[in-house]
Amino acid sequence: MNKLQTLLLLLILVGFVSVEYLLGRAQKFDASKGDNTIDLLGFALLAVVTQPLIFWIVTMVGKSALPQYQNALINLPWYAMAALFLVFDDMLQYWWHRASHSALLWPLHRAHHTAHYMSARMIYRNNFFYYVGMPAVWMSGILVYLGGANVYLVYLTIKIAVITGAHSAWRWDEALYKVKALKPSCGWCSGPFQRHQRTGRIMRLPMTMASVITKAILVTCFFSGMSCLARRISRSNSQPRWV
Ligand SMILES: [Zn+2]
Repeated sequence: MNKLQTLLLLLILVGFVSVEYLLGRAQKFDASKGDNTIDLLGFALLAVVTQPLIFWIVTMVGKSALPQYQNALINLPWYAMAALFLVFDDMLQYWWHRASHSALLWPLHRAHHTAHYMSARMIYRNNFFYYVGMPAVWMSGILVYLGGANVYLVYLTIKIAVITGAHSAWRWDEALYKVKALKPSCGWCSGPFQRHQRTGRIMRLPMTMASVITKAILVTCFFSGMSCLARRISRSNSQPRWV
C-alpha cells in the first residue's frame, strides 16, 4: 500500500470515528483496553504489514518469473480495470467472508464478531491470517502488477468508504429509511450494521433464494472475468508495445 493510499484510508477511518464520537455514539461502546488494542492492531497490521507484503511478493515473483507481463494492461480503459477489480477483489472478498463463516475458517474471522459495538474502528478486527489468506488481496496485487495501480487507488478508497459507512455507528443512511421508495435498497447501505451478530459462537450466514441467485451471477462474472483477463493479457503480450 503506498503512502497516499494509507493516508486516504486513515482519513476515512478517523473521519467516521470522529463523527461517531461527536454524535456521542462512541461513548456508549464500553470498549475495553483489549478491544482498543485489537481494533488498532487490526488496521495497522493490514495497512503496514499484510497488504504491502503480499503486493511485494506478487511484484517480486512477477518480475522474476513473468517480467513481460508487468504493466501489460496499463492501456486498458479505467472502467474495464475497475470491472476487473470488482470481480477479482470485491467478489472474491465476498466469497472469502462467506467461507470464513464455516467451521474451518471461523477462527480467522471470529474476532470481528466478538466486538460488543458496531463502529468504523472494528472493520479490520480479524486474525492476521484472515487477510494473509484472502485471495482478493493477492488478486489485487496481481492486477496492480498488470498495470492497475491508479485505478486501484480510487477503487479501494471508494470500497473502504462504503464498507466503513456500512459498519459505522453514525447511521448516515437513517434519513433514507423515511423515504418509502428507497426502503428496499436501504438494507444494502447498512446491511452489516443491521445483521451483524456480536457473538463468539460460529455464525452461519443465511442461504436464501436471493443469495443463491446472487451467487450464480457472481460465479458467471468470475469466470467471464477470468477469460476476458486471459484473452487481454495474451493479446497484449503477443503485440509489440509500440503498435
Ligand atoms: Zn462475518
